[in-house]
Amino acid sequence: MKALVKYAKGPGNLEIRNVPEPEALKDFVKIRVVYAGICGSDLHTWAGNYAGNKPPVTLGHEFSGIVVETGPDVKHIKIGDWVTSETTFETCGTCLHCKNKEYNLCSARRGLGTQADGGFAEYVINHEARVHVLPKHVTLLQASLTEPLACAVHGAMETSQVKKGETVLVFGPGAMGLLTGMVCKSQGAKVVIAGLTKDENRFAVARELGFERIVDQMKENLDEIMYEMTDGAGPDKVYECSGAIPALNRSFELVRKKGEVVQIGLFPKDYNEVNVGIFFPKEIHYMGTRTQKPSAWVTSLKLMEEGLVSPEKIVTMITQLDNWEEGFTRSRNAEEVKVVIQVSES
Ligand SMILES: [Zn+2]
Ligand SMILES: [Zn+2]
Repeated sequence: MKALVKYAKGPGNLEIRNVPEPEALKDFVKIRVVYAGICGSDLHTWAGNYAGNKPPVTLGHEFSGIVVETGPDVKHIKIGDWVTSETTFETCGTCLHCKNKEYNLCSARRGLGTQADGGFAEYVINHEARVHVLPKHVTLLQASLTEPLACAVHGAMETSQVKKGETVLVFGPGAMGLLTGMVCKSQGAKVVIAGLTKDENRFAVARELGFERIVDQMKENLDEIMYEMTDGAGPDKVYECSGAIPALNRSFELVRKKGEVVQIGLFPKDYNEVNVGIFFPKEIHYMGTRTQKPSAWVTSLKLMEEGLVSPEKIVTMITQLDNWEEGFTRSRNAEEVKVVIQVSES
């Protein structure tokens, strides 16, 4: 079968290859992939600067599809079911985090599309327990965005707990910023999305999503806007989704006293110049949030089923597997918000 394989470490080293089809043994479910989204981490793997990736491996960890085969130990999932799958493929099963179903924190975790073959392929397998049958009103295109949506749910509803009536500031109008904003809005928060003039394409998508304000920081005064909305206090929560250090420092300056700053964007390097002097006088809570865990998948599918979040609205390009390079290039150049590869017909 056709698969997009990262075959060696380093820049590039990514191509369509003909690889053996996976088999549905034991408790495995075999899925014919219909849609698979391109994630920022795929771009890092392509560039050769994502250490977590273990070549040779088929990329793709955001996908949906139709079940074509089930192993002898599969109990509930049936051939023909429309599904999406968690990215967790294997964990140790015994550590504290595994016991708490926090697989994102298991040190022995292997994920689809990074250490095990993923969804940029005609077929992919995962354990039944990690596969979710789609609720009635959720489409396959929506479902291919469950993983990034679950990351936003984990950050906004599990790591921090956004509440009705709160004012929330999101830095970075890319896919993660817009999904995080949508999750906060679904919980009744007032959401402001902030970016730079180069984000104009992304602002255009953001404007369709019904946020309170969209702010181009190079043209408008973000401080004034935030203080005006919060009686001078500052936002209750700031979600830093840009991975830019200036935005992180602005987050600390703007967040209200005792407020929360949640780090969702990844930084290009580990050691950075950050204003930590401001933590003490303001009692700021700065939190990291790592991908997603099973509870966030359940919540994400429910938000889509109830029509509270429509993640497909951020999809600006759908292309074919053979055309992956154009999709990757346009994503890297920020010409698109979210690119989804249609691997097969639904
Ligand atoms: Zn991802
Ligand atoms: Zn574990």
